[in-house]
Amino acid sequence: MEIYKGTATFAGIAIGKILFYHKNEYQIRQYLVSDIKNELNVFNSARIQVIRQLRELYEKNCTGSPAEAETFQKQARLLEADSFRRAIESVITSQKVNAAYAVTINRDELSSTFRNLEDPFIQERITHIQEISNRLIAVLGGISPKIDLGDQPVILAAENLSPTEIMEMEKEKILGVVTHLGSAVSHTSILAKSMAIPCLVGIQAREEWDGKDVIVDGYTGSLYLDPDREILMEYEMRRQADLKEREELLQLKEVEDITRDGKKIGLYANISNLDDLNSVLYYGAAGIGLFRSEFQYLGRENYPRENELFCAYKKVAETMENRLVVIRTVDLGADKQAEYLDIPDEVNPIMGNRGIRLCLDRKRMFKAQIRAIYRASAYGNLAMMYPMITSEEELDEIEKIIREIKAGLLEKEIPFKEIPVGIMVETPAAVMISRELARRVDFLSMGTNDLTQYTLAMDRQNPLLRGKYNDHHPAIIRMIQMVIASAHQENCRVCICGELAADTRLTEKFLRMGVDDLSVVPVCILPVRKAIREVDLGSL
Ligand code: PEP
Ligand code: MG
Repeated sequence: MEIYKGTATFAGIAIGKILFYHKNEYQIRQYLVSDIKNELNVFNSARIQVIRQLRELYEKNCTGSPAEAETFQKQARLLEADSFRRAIESVITSQKVNAAYAVTINRDELSSTFRNLEDPFIQERITHIQEISNRLIAVLGGISPKIDLGDQPVILAAENLSPTEIMEMEKEKILGVVTHLGSAVSHTSILAKSMAIPCLVGIQAREEWDGKDVIVDGYTGSLYLDPDREILMEYEMRRQADLKEREELLQLKEVEDITRDGKKIGLYANISNLDDLNSVLYYGAAGIGLFRSEFQYLGRENYPRENELFCAYKKVAETMENRLVVIRTVDLGADKQAEYLDIPDEVNPIMGNRGIRLCLDRKRMFKAQIRAIYRASAYGNLAMMYPMITSEEELDEIEKIIREIKAGLLEKEIPFKEIPVGIMVETPAAVMISRELARRVDFLSMGTNDLTQYTLAMDRQNPLLRGKYNDHHPAIIRMIQMVIASAHQENCRVCICGELAADTRLTEKFLRMGVDDLSVVPVCILPVRKAIREVDLGSL
């Protein structure tokens, strides 16, 4: 037996076999084809589809960012060129392989042949070839859309997992997750937590662990590889006890979120997609305090259209009936990327063009979302909030867009409601001007994950800072206190929706500071409810 120590991101115990996820293994499948003519046709229709995609991207971006748009033009021309087409057709014909595999071979050969040439023209061309090849492979279906987890539930081990990858997995088949990179507040860990999956970060799993038995202890952050029989028995008992404790907590599903001395607190749920709705209702949350809407933009080929967003928001609004649902407008960028977004590389993406900045840069995308939210508002109790706000000027710009959208809806007689709007306070700038911001909106919601990283100047995902990243830092606690006080002076409600809201060691402190609402992943609703009900604000 070997024991490894990492950081736990969700308290729970998992026992099972490791599946080592090796990204490349899952990417391109190679197979022999008998009907070469048909495969050539398959390739050429994919090529035409990608050319069309690129032309659309060019049209969409040519006014906002002409330099980037030009890239799409160049790539479309390259795809039309005979030389590129013939190179791939020749691999298909000579090796009798599927088109996706032929595109991969061509891409990899060119990249390695020209890797050491410094001529910027050649380097640019290689980048274009890589990008168009990836687009082709995606269209050809060479990339397995889902990671094949096999028949039996497993403990998934990987160097790193992106939020998109974990989102695409069948959660019933994952008992636990172990990664080397990431942190307790990285979006991948938050997603695993919202699926109630014990997850450890900071453990470098090796390929030869594949298929071995392990225990994941999400309380201590320990991983037991090839556990001894006694340890296995002990953990099996602990796992049962854990399940029993969770079952006991279920008695709190329908009770009020109220302190002993009678103060009511709004206890809401954080969700990332529509699949989470069942657990929000199951655990009896007051509503949804944070709908991370950007996850609808990930793991796909193109922007979701307004109507698709509208249908999703309508479904959430209707499912939650009259309970409040706070939709956070998309917080894309940084660790939340999709190829079609084509966000240019940034030296410092965490400090880069993300959140509201990206939305205000890509107004077409932003307007589609806001219109969808307003249209869906007619079907339930929606509210909307904006991520990464740092100034009142951003609010000016947003308000202008909202006025325009409402006027458009009125003109077309599309029903909508006036909905509460709020701001995520997750930058030190927003903390410092929280009183001014509170004057302009209905509620503030504290995003303590980002607030901690920006206040301590520590990347929340950096594994090297894991021991130093301290979200209980007095600076963070004082900032929370400050925001609550400023907001209350302006009669504005304050919620905490970062991971700290689920930290029951701080529940009493937050309540004493006067926080109005807490929003946590569904599986943490009951432990936080229990903590709220144990607080007596009347006692010293
Ligand atoms: C936060 O920053 O605390 C937050 C709730 O938003 P996210 O974790 O999605 O960045
Ligand atoms: Mg945030």
